[in-house]
Amino acid sequence: MSSGLKYFVGNWKMFGVISSFKIITKLNNFLQKDKNNKKYKIIIAPPFTLLESFSKKLKNKRIKLSSQNCFHKDGFGAYTGNISPFMIKKIGVNYTIIGHSENRDSGETDQLINEKVKLALNNNLNIILCVGENKQEKRNKKTILVLKRQLNILKKNYQLNKIIIAYEPVWSIGSGNVPSYLELKKNTLFIKAYLKRKFKFNNSKLLYGGSVDHKTINNFKAIKELDGFLIGGASKSSKKFIDIIKNFYK
Ligand code: PEP
Repeated sequence: MSSGLKYFVGNWKMFGVISSFKIITKLNNFLQKDKNNKKYKIIIAPPFTLLESFSKKLKNKRIKLSSQNCFHKDGFGAYTGNISPFMIKKIGVNYTIIGHSENRDSGETDQLINEKVKLALNNNLNIILCVGENKQEKRNKKTILVLKRQLNILKKNYQLNKIIIAYEPVWSIGSGNVPSYLELKKNTLFIKAYLKRKFKFNNSKLLYGGSVDHKTINNFKAIKELDGFLIGGASKSSKKFIDIIKNFYK
């Protein structure tokens, strides 16, 4: 296990109403009492509809909020249904997920993702940038090529210390299937080495995401290069989320 701060990030996707804040209250109660609480950070990404009210409730609390996406144009404009990085930052939210495979699947290209990354950085947002191969790409042994292509949107002059990479193999998301220890170790080391070589990014932070739960977490904790986890399904239950953290430090 690496000595650095770990991140447990919950992606609620299309889930939650105002009363769902009780999940966060329970996480907060656990966090306050947990003897390991200095070792990790919890970030929750609820849908846009909840961000502003949750942001007010979490003012000065240790649990942080992230948006699940942001638009590729900034400020205000005639873009029906969209939310700019500026608007996210304005409500006191400091993180945004960008490039989640569910959004890439609905047509987000690397170029569009690059625009979002630039604008999020301009607004001083921290970014959780999702990368990962799909089933077909894995079958065709294209994982490394895909990862390189998705990482190549970054530039040396970006504030790379504000970007956390989340390696999320698409075939693993919501499927219950997870990479083997060796496969994940290899891809983790590749991503970190690539960022170092290509962008002189020496202190990269890398999360794993894809069917992380209280059981699968045990397969991952031996990979000390991982800086944490992006958790979808299991983050909608405070018990499941807490059990992941408990088992990680067991
Ligand atoms: C995700 O959607 O980012 C994710 C990791 O989902 P799950 O944990 O449900 O596989």
